[in-house]
Amino acid sequence: MLRIKSILDNSQPEESLDVHGWVRTRRDSKQGFSFIELNDGSCMSNLQIVIDKEVPGYEDSIKLVTTGAALKIAGTVKESPGKGQRIEVHATHLEVLGTADPETFPLQKKRHSFEYLREIAHLRPRSNTFGAIARVRNAATFAIHSFFQKNGFINIHTPIITTSDCEGAGEMFHVTTLDLARLAQVQTEIDYSQDFFGKPASLTVSGQLEAEIYATSLGPCYTFGPTFRAENSNTTRHLAEFWMVEPEVPFADLDDNMRLAEDFIKSVISYVLETCKEDMEFFNLRIDKTVLETLHHILEHEFHRLSYTDAVAILTSAEKEWEFPVEWGHDLQSEHERYLTEEHFKKPIILYDYPRSIKPFYMRCNEDGKTVRAMDVLVPRIGEIIGGSQREERLDVLEARMKECDLDPEDYWWYTDLRKFGTIPHSGFGLGFERLIQLLTGMQNIRDCIPFPRTPKNAEF
Ligand code: ATP
Ligand code: MN
Repeated sequence: MLRIKSILDNSQPEESLDVHGWVRTRRDSKQGFSFIELNDGSCMSNLQIVIDKEVPGYEDSIKLVTTGAALKIAGTVKESPGKGQRIEVHATHLEVLGTADPETFPLQKKRHSFEYLREIAHLRPRSNTFGAIARVRNAATFAIHSFFQKNGFINIHTPIITTSDCEGAGEMFHVTTLDLARLAQVQTEIDYSQDFFGKPASLTVSGQLEAEIYATSLGPCYTFGPTFRAENSNTTRHLAEFWMVEPEVPFADLDDNMRLAEDFIKSVISYVLETCKEDMEFFNLRIDKTVLETLHHILEHEFHRLSYTDAVAILTSAEKEWEFPVEWGHDLQSEHERYLTEEHFKKPIILYDYPRSIKPFYMRCNEDGKTVRAMDVLVPRIGEIIGGSQREERLDVLEARMKECDLDPEDYWWYTDLRKFGTIPHSGFGLGFERLIQLLTGMQNIRDCIPFPRTPKNAEF
């Protein structure tokens, strides 16, 4: 079956074809024919259909051709005399496959707010913006796999249900088959030995620990899977369910890790700019007038690297009223991250060597006793898009750090085993896929960068 993208790109006048799609608009002329703008999601552009009243069944069918209705058209390609399209299709046959009552169809031609469109997430992919986002997501997914595959990485499927808390932040969704309603009535201590896995389990916050297992056996690895965080943060950059890309590289230090992160981001941006031209022009026109410029600027400049300590010095001497105070030893807030990348350096930056007190146990400790070999990649408009580190490969230091973080090394016996048997330096990072989609599309809210967003009090569809 021909898709509209291929028809618009390749079809020649006098070709006969069938086409299927949904009506964007219909316009009737006084001379007794109608114009239909048909879209099938294969590209942003609509195919113009011209249908004459002589076409069998025109009188009965045409009034059902309303915005949202599904059609099958048979016709002949003609050169289009009108502006804006090379060709159009003159229908010889029209079949209305599914009607859409104009009184109740929720997605009318007018511009709707993104908030409204979130409430009709089952229909929003039929809008220009959400069709384009879906296609860009698809292209970015392909670019990610292709970047790693070209560079010899192995894709690993890490578990979604886990019994370890990678970030140690405790923001996890519990997985249980216990009867919560009954437990609530008896009000005793919960006996997890009665639960499905015989101990507390949750949805994963990261595939990193398991990716490390494979990276220290097979070489460079990556995961690209769903990740869950029960953080109650109603921001434009947080989802409860998001997709994360996590490469893990053996025999790599933090410098190697930074280089990989930069090459990786640039390669995905280049691919999307090249393959999604029409959608990217749409974002630049309708969503954010600077998105193309920003992306080209990112491609053309080296990411600036500086230590967390130097960043704090810049922030404390900046002439700015911060909502959150800047102090060495505290996590940087979005406003600080964005100031550094948008205003101070005006390009992506990589901050490294963060205070160990604010970072997880697995990051490699520096000799200064105060910092760890962490790195965050910060980009304009988003702030943090990547968080990563060189991993602690020294068993004694790792166990000491676990205790410092109130973790029992026994619970991570398999992770410490990797340091007992053939330990090696290694590094990796996690990129939030939806934050990358925000960067690529210029969309303000991360909820619009995933088909069905999950956020506090919201898991419809
Ligand atoms: P932040 O400080 O922005 O909340 P984080 O430091 O908790 O992020 P990491 O644990 O470093 O995040 O996770 C790696 C990457 O995953 C982040 O750089 C970000 O791109 C993405 N990410 C983290 N949390 C979320 C979330 N709740 N929704 C979407 N993406 C997220
Ligand atoms: Mn982080």
